[in-house]
Amino acid sequence: MMTTPDQGGHWGILGGTFDPVHHGHLNLALQVATSSNLDGVLLVPSLRHPFKDVCRASFGHRMEMLMCATSGDDRFVVSGIEMDEELPGYTIDSIRAIRERYPYAIWSFIMGEDNLEELERWRDPEAIFAEVRMLVGQRPPHQWSDYISRFPADRIEMVAIDMLDVSSTEIRRLLNEGVSEKELAEMMPRSVVQYIKKHGLYQ
Ligand code: ATP
Repeated sequence: MMTTPDQGGHWGILGGTFDPVHHGHLNLALQVATSSNLDGVLLVPSLRHPFKDVCRASFGHRMEMLMCATSGDDRFVVSGIEMDEELPGYTIDSIRAIRERYPYAIWSFIMGEDNLEELERWRDPEAIFAEVRMLVGQRPPHQWSDYISRFPADRIEMVAIDMLDVSSTEIRRLLNEGVSEKELAEMMPRSVVQYIKKHGLYQ
């Protein structure tokens, strides 16, 4: 088992706003990693997002929440590369920067099926497929055959996962309404709930 992609191995990239990180993200990463035999997953919070409004929590807080969520679990590495290299927010630039930073690792890009429909709007999808294989987590039953045929078959793989019905948008809404810590802890690691409370985020 590799503990960082510095040493090589086959790693997944999971990018997102993680505003905040929740069990849906971690569950997606772990299930895809297990079924595709990855050594681990690099979690890459976005500094800017081409299709989304600004994040509610700062980059620093989103990084810290990811650290809380994954501390002690060597299947995850949290990467601040988008901030370190002031990347413009396009996936292709981040993928290239990651491959340059970790030249010995083989990389696949993990995403939830909801993001697949956006893929055609991403900058330079052909270049993305040339750099990485796509591993797309999808909830059974399998209905992906139409959509997947638009992409190069040997570069995209659909992985059946038990998807959890949780989103950052819903969590932010609940926090705004003053939800209990117990209820939050069903959607995200308790350490992240505590971090949010301690710093008064998403009020
Ligand atoms: P928001 O609600 O703010 O749009 P989000 O919860 O969808 O956020 P993102 O950070 O935008 O989270 O998503 C990062 C990645 O995680 C995407 O590839 C997305 O498809 C995936 N993802 C998000 N929520 C889930 C979930 N519940 N199950 C599986 N994958 C998920």
